[in-house]
Amino acid sequence: MTAPQQLIATAAPAARVNLLGLTRVQLEAFFSDLGEKRFRAQQVMKWIHHRGVRDFADMTDLSQSLRETLRDIAEITPPVIAEQQDSVDGTRKWAIAVEGGSLVEAVLIPEGDRATLCVSSQVGCSLDCTFCSTGKQGFQRDLTAAEIIGQVWLAINSYDGWQSGKGRVVTNVVMMGMGEPLLNFDNVVAAMNLMCDDLAYGLSKRKVTLSTSGVVPNLDRLADWADVSLAVSLHAPNDALRDQIVPINRKYPIARLLQSARAYIDAQPDKKRVVTIEYTLLAGVNDSVAQAEELAALLKDYPCKINLIPFNDFPDSGYQRPSGNAVSRFWQVLIDAGFVVTVRTTRGDDIDAACGQLVGEVVDRTRRSARHRAGRGSQSLLQSD
Ligand code: SAH
Ligand code: SF4
Repeated sequence: MTAPQQLIATAAPAARVNLLGLTRVQLEAFFSDLGEKRFRAQQVMKWIHHRGVRDFADMTDLSQSLRETLRDIAEITPPVIAEQQDSVDGTRKWAIAVEGGSLVEAVLIPEGDRATLCVSSQVGCSLDCTFCSTGKQGFQRDLTAAEIIGQVWLAINSYDGWQSGKGRVVTNVVMMGMGEPLLNFDNVVAAMNLMCDDLAYGLSKRKVTLSTSGVVPNLDRLADWADVSLAVSLHAPNDALRDQIVPINRKYPIARLLQSARAYIDAQPDKKRVVTIEYTLLAGVNDSVAQAEELAALLKDYPCKINLIPFNDFPDSGYQRPSGNAVSRFWQVLIDAGFVVTVRTTRGDDIDAACGQLVGEVVDRTRRSARHRAGRGSQSLLQSD
């Protein structure tokens, strides 16, 4: 064998570009680099995200030669479903194998005519909140944009929901799965961009929610890149307690976090936006009436609604879920202070979808809460829609 032939024989094949995770702008650049018209991007996006087509040979509005070129240099590769579980309540959970062999989770929670997909952004998480099972795993790596948007693709695909006329499989997305989205900024922004792009999933920006435990420098620049809804994981009414349970608070304390979140929503054209304050209730830690009062004082005049999340236990967590009464008492204080408050009910218990951040109806109960406010909470608190 001559030397050049040896080289050819042993050289690794050039990696194909995974078009699944490219935004419209990136895909247009990809096609213009190929000397193709930019509108090819629009055609290909519809094939991928509207029709669920992965094989370039099936993209019948592209020329034969372009289809062959794409077959050689590109791919459309979602992550792989390792396991799928269905709850009796309709919740469906996937363990998704990403490159390198790690697993992340996504959960689809149907509720009336909407269905909320909870999406992961990282394998593990470095922030180590003391009550979070993902935090306990430590950080492994960021998900790629293709792996993040691929969770939406897989969810739709698993219901055969491509333009089926059966209604949309995914109506809302919350970045509340594994990982801290603001620590994987570029890939999360790209994936959220695709969630909202009409040529991809076309979700309204209000229906995509990023949840953060408070990576303030990245929250400060988020408005330049996205205008999705924002949830802030507060979990404590003061810095002394938050320092303990959400360690990033030692770097970016509550006042800075709330100020940054407010600046984010103030930058939105839609002036009716509010920050969702998430507050996981941990028995005997942050669930007292005094702490509810302190929270009410902290958030007085702050543009927010409050989402109470009774703690979801996991082995060796060291924490307990508060009683229904404790949750009610906490809720009542906030309602009496005039806040819009929702309580997240547990879904998918039988398939263990209730693993902390992967739980949640994330239902906007604003109207009911408004009724509660008017009636001073005369209705049952934990009822589901
Ligand atoms: N890293 C982001 C998003 C993922 S967690 C964040 O922290 O905001 C989504 C939500 O679930 C967060 O509010 C998080 O604090 C909360 N959470 C984590 N573990 C939980 C548990 N065991 N029980 C209840 N809520 C939990
Ligand atoms: Fe990370 Fe969020 Fe879990 Fe904290 S709660 S460890 S930020 S995933």
